[in-house]
Amino acid sequence: MEKIVELGLERFKEQNRQKVHFVNDKTANNLLNDIDNNPHVYVLACLMDRQIKAEKAWIIPQKIFDIFTTNEIDKLSEIDKNNFVEEFENNKLHRFNKDMAEIFYAAIQHIKNKYNYDASKIWKDKPSSALVIYRFLEFKGCGIKIATMAANILARQYKIEFSDYYSIDISPDTHIMRVMKRMGYVSNDSNREMVIYKARELYPKFPGIIDSSCWEIGRQFCKPKNPDCDNCIIKEQCKKII
Ligand code: SF4
Repeated sequence: MEKIVELGLERFKEQNRQKVHFVNDKTANNLLNDIDNNPHVYVLACLMDRQIKAEKAWIIPQKIFDIFTTNEIDKLSEIDKNNFVEEFENNKLHRFNKDMAEIFYAAIQHIKNKYNYDASKIWKDKPSSALVIYRFLEFKGCGIKIATMAANILARQYKIEFSDYYSIDISPDTHIMRVMKRMGYVSNDSNREMVIYKARELYPKFPGIIDSSCWEIGRQFCKPKNPDCDNCIIKEQCKKII
């Protein structure tokens, strides 16, 4: 087994539920991490994570809650779609304010109608990874990239149990792309899809498992400039294509 997979599996087993740092705002971050009591906040934030910086996207639910003075899903479900559009546009919450306001509104209605206000039903009772991803894809505006990322964070960081992890792909960000290329797993001109399929080849049972190892290595050793190969924990298996 490749060291990068071993490392990912070790981290997955040894860590308890982690507090995830999504945004610098403490209140917003606490709410995003309160997945047992406020699961809809996590879902709404995932859906906003499109074509803008993650920090800006993940804070949007909190900004909406401040504007409407509630984060309760039943109260949010009573707000008219046009009010969301107006507030998104007035406060310039997103790059695509009208579309994202409609997605935000539709997500609340979907959680109300399909899950009886309880978004945790998306991942409750040990569903398969494919089912969780499918349920995310049912939300308006949710593509495979968001659906996979959402399932991956649920499994690896929130420690939500699934019956399998086959469908949870890696979510390649700049750290992951850099490490995969320098290690020689993919060629230098590879795109996101190629990295996703290489991760599937490396560990089909849970391709997304190497997210954490690549991320850790990318942050600690394999920095964009001056990679610290001498101290890197995977230096023996790395082709060091820099
Ligand atoms: S050995 Fe060097 S090039 Fe390879 S992953 Fe580590 S820091 Fe990056």
